[in-house]
Amino acid sequence: MEQSIGELLRRFFGATSQFGSLDRDQTLVITLREAAEGCRKRVDVPRRIHCESCSASGEAGAGAVETCHACSGRGRVSMHSQGRTLTMTCEHCNGVGEIVSRRCGDCGGTGRRLIRERLDVTVPPGVKEGQTLRLRGKGDVGGVMADARVGDLLLSIQVREHELLKRRDDDIVVDVSIDAEVAERGGTVQVPGLHGSERVAIPAGSVDGDEIRVAGHGALRFGSPPMPPPLDGVDESPYRGHDDIAGDHRGDLLVRIYVEPRPTSKKARIAIAAALAAAAATALGLLL
Ligand SMILES: [Zn+2]
Ligand SMILES: [Zn+2]
Repeated sequence: MEQSIGELLRRFFGATSQFGSLDRDQTLVITLREAAEGCRKRVDVPRRIHCESCSASGEAGAGAVETCHACSGRGRVSMHSQGRTLTMTCEHCNGVGEIVSRRCGDCGGTGRRLIRERLDVTVPPGVKEGQTLRLRGKGDVGGVMADARVGDLLLSIQVREHELLKRRDDDIVVDVSIDAEVAERGGTVQVPGLHGSERVAIPAGSVDGDEIRVAGHGALRFGSPPMPPPLDGVDESPYRGHDDIAGDHRGDLLVRIYVEPRPTSKKARIAIAAALAAAAATALGLLL
């Protein structure tokens, strides 16, 4: 009666507690662009599955043998007593050196086996550093029964740093240095973006620290369908404010302007040097 209740409980709970947590944690490193646009990644996942050799029973098939642990397969054991050595037949294996195994050799009798599974993972567009992707049923199998619970694989996203671009929520930030003349009169510059080089107009009178927004050229928002960025020269972004698309799907490219100091002209340098010399002469005159 006790046994049957135990069996009933085991069936009911799927024996999960026996093995602890069945979820597996792993880190997935991707690039800034992959995080922004989404990607497919191949990952190798170590996980425990049912042992096929024993159909998860943990028991060895007929005729399976293992080396006798009592005599290490020698069939005889030696005893040392008062300077004498007595050798006897191993009682454990009756001198054979092997015993008929009851445990499956492939899983050690646990009914589970550790494998390395290769998975193709779809990383959705717009994921951020530290976000976790849950792959259901790709963790460890919990028990030896066919209906045992299977844990999940939890992939923690790590975004590799880009040498030029930074992410700020869904916007992509890039620093660009322009010369004072372009800042003063306005012009266009090429800046690195998420999808290659972008032509950006610098308005006249720009100053150091100004930010220019290039609408729709940032990262896709999490949950958005994968869509290309808007075409250059299209005034109205197709990703904003249209009835058929809920909200906009991308952040912006944010260009931060750094104005280079105006190079000093030769004439100005001579004037400064003359002024300094005059000041020095005056100081010297005062001292004498
Ligand atoms: Zn097995
Ligand atoms: Zn033995």
